[in-house]
Amino acid sequence: MKIEFVGGAKSVTGSSYIIKDDDFTIMVDCGMFQGSKELKERNSLNLIYNPGKIDSLILTHAHIDHSGLIPKLVKNGFYGNIYATQATADLCSIMLPDSAHIQEMDTKWINKKRKKLDLEPVEPLYTADDAEKSLSNFVPVNYGDTIQINPRVHIRFRDAGHILGSSFVEMWIEEGDKKTKVVFSGDIGQKESAIIRDPDIVEDADILLIESTYGDRLHKSKEDTETEFISIINETHKGPGNIVIPSFAIERTQEIIYLLSKLFRSEKIPVIPVYIDSPLAISATEIFKKNSDCFDDEIKQIFSSGESPLDFPSLRFVRTTADSKKLNDEASGAIIISASGMCNAGRIKYHLMNNLYRPDSSVVFVGYQAEGTLGRRLVDGAKQVRIYGEDVIVNAKIHTLGGFSAHADRNGLLEWAGKISNPKLRVFVIHGEGEASTSLADELRTRYGFTTHVPDWGEIVDLETMKTEVASYAVSDTFTSLDRDIESLAEIISTINEKYKRAKNENKIKKIKHLQEDINDAKQMLAMIIDEL
Ligand SMILES: [Zn+2]
Repeated sequence: MKIEFVGGAKSVTGSSYIIKDDDFTIMVDCGMFQGSKELKERNSLNLIYNPGKIDSLILTHAHIDHSGLIPKLVKNGFYGNIYATQATADLCSIMLPDSAHIQEMDTKWINKKRKKLDLEPVEPLYTADDAEKSLSNFVPVNYGDTIQINPRVHIRFRDAGHILGSSFVEMWIEEGDKKTKVVFSGDIGQKESAIIRDPDIVEDADILLIESTYGDRLHKSKEDTETEFISIINETHKGPGNIVIPSFAIERTQEIIYLLSKLFRSEKIPVIPVYIDSPLAISATEIFKKNSDCFDDEIKQIFSSGESPLDFPSLRFVRTTADSKKLNDEASGAIIISASGMCNAGRIKYHLMNNLYRPDSSVVFVGYQAEGTLGRRLVDGAKQVRIYGEDVIVNAKIHTLGGFSAHADRNGLLEWAGKISNPKLRVFVIHGEGEASTSLADELRTRYGFTTHVPDWGEIVDLETMKTEVASYAVSDTFTSLDRDIESLAEIISTINEKYKRAKNENKIKKIKHLQEDINDAKQMLAMIIDEL
């Protein structure tokens, strides 16, 4: 039996793992790589040699870094079942088409630039049509039900307390008389999150794959975070500036709505218009209301008293692009919550363009910012950033509120894993940036005596011998991406050079002047190749 780390190894995105034996090939999660250009390029590689050979896919939760490559997998020939909780399936029904829309829009923009340079157009990773088609593969499973997905394999979804519908997966694999239990943590939530239940406890396992997003960090307490949030709102409200909150459309946005409704009711903050400018977050809020069986007791009680905890009088939902643009131009003294949470796509980019230069505005980060994203650059203190090819000066106040995280911190992860009573437990530490994973692995080994390993991207581990090999895509990746970059650069420069020579021969000064535009476009292409846009 082998495990292949297709993604989410020494990085927080692209989560995907394959467990295989002679009789089965099962994939857990099929996430999109996000962040740096190098990571994003992995999305277009053929990571799965033959998707048709994968028997089934198990999805821990709906976040795009766990689900985002599903439409590509189905498009390339996967026809098996996708097992997930009902709420995860519901959320994917809006998130995957939304992700397809982003792919299509980005490709359109890139192709516009390519056309000007006489370059061939490129295809999006997948289309809205591909995303819609992939939804028919979903098979909803209840939390706690044990189901058989292969004559030798049973699985059970348990509550991970991370986002609505999130789960960790217990998998029992039979080999003759022997039964091996593998646990895939998915993403583990913090205790006492605002809306959903706490993570379940896992009592036993032989092999554990554990996330390590915050493997080397601790969160501020919820109380301190709330106090800081209140003072940011009150401070910014003294002037005409806006409070811009880049927020994940799922869970975080609903948590912030819930918190704001509590703060308004208790009059800890003045009545301020709050705009939810993300069609995805609006649809997600509806899905939350539909799946209220996933809520914790406190919020269930508010619901049953007839109040809506996900609503308040100054809350406005911005649905159309026209209204979003209007909000861009007119907003003053408002709270604007928009996606994406890491600022790498979506309407938030326009709100940042309109507010970052304003010293009276604040940007409040309430979630994890992966390496290479615009959000991370802002959190790291960039004085100037590039958005849609334009340089924007950062004058606004940038705040990071860690306590809202949907992830357990280092102590939370250690406590959760420590409940497993097997001292012979073998742990693969995944879904974290290198240092976070290594730090958690070290502590799991010293504190509990578990055997730990931090796998590399593309590593394939034989679970009997613990021998490892490297998947071919991981070996050739560095070369293919360099090849591609150098090829595009050469193509662009030779096109411009030819046009220039022709114009010079014909002595056409107008054409030469026109070339300046091409050169500017080429510079933008260069910037895209070298850095993030
Ligand atoms: Zn997640």
